[in-house]
Amino acid sequence: MAQLYYRYGTMNSGKTIEILKVAYNYEEQGKGVVIMTSALDTRDGVGYVSSRIGMKRPAIAIEKTTDIFGYIRNLPEKPYCVLVDEAQFLKRHHVYDLARVVDELDIPVMAFGLKNDFRNELFEGSKYLLLLADKIEEIKTICQYCKKKATMVLRTQDGVPVYDGEQIQIGGNETYISVCRKHYFAPEINKENEEK
Ligand SMILES: [Zn+2]
Repeated sequence: MAQLYYRYGTMNSGKTIEILKVAYNYEEQGKGVVIMTSALDTRDGVGYVSSRIGMKRPAIAIEKTTDIFGYIRNLPEKPYCVLVDEAQFLKRHHVYDLARVVDELDIPVMAFGLKNDFRNELFEGSKYLLLLADKIEEIKTICQYCKKKATMVLRTQDGVPVYDGEQIQIGGNETYISVCRKHYFAPEINKENEEK
């Protein structure tokens, strides 16, 4: 039985590396996979998954109007797995499509993404994946300032924490840092600056 997986983590928790690894493992066995990503992520050009350590692969870019279910159903060859990067940027209808891919086409879907934005609200895609996924798994990473698990994304602009504004801002000059709850509310940015 195919299942819908949602693997979430904060920034830089290695989500994309995980996708590339899963794809590699399938393909090594001669099993084709479909890799998709949000068209909103333009950091490395539209339609690519790329990791910080330099690995990059083309992917199907999901636009607002993309019919994911129709696209997968009409492929000439049924894939063994569908992998989705930047799943936080998906719309509600995309996530419902992913569930149909699992239930009606019997193809496993693994979606990877951030759970919460820098305001500590759920992204739309994350919300519906949390509601619909069969298996929810956390990709763990450590707080920038201590040894606790990072569960939040802190946004800073010119070294100052920012807690409100537009949810999605890609390619600006802001920085995102993975932090624990304590350091989300009280980051040690100033201390760090003084030490430099
Ligand atoms: Zn911390």
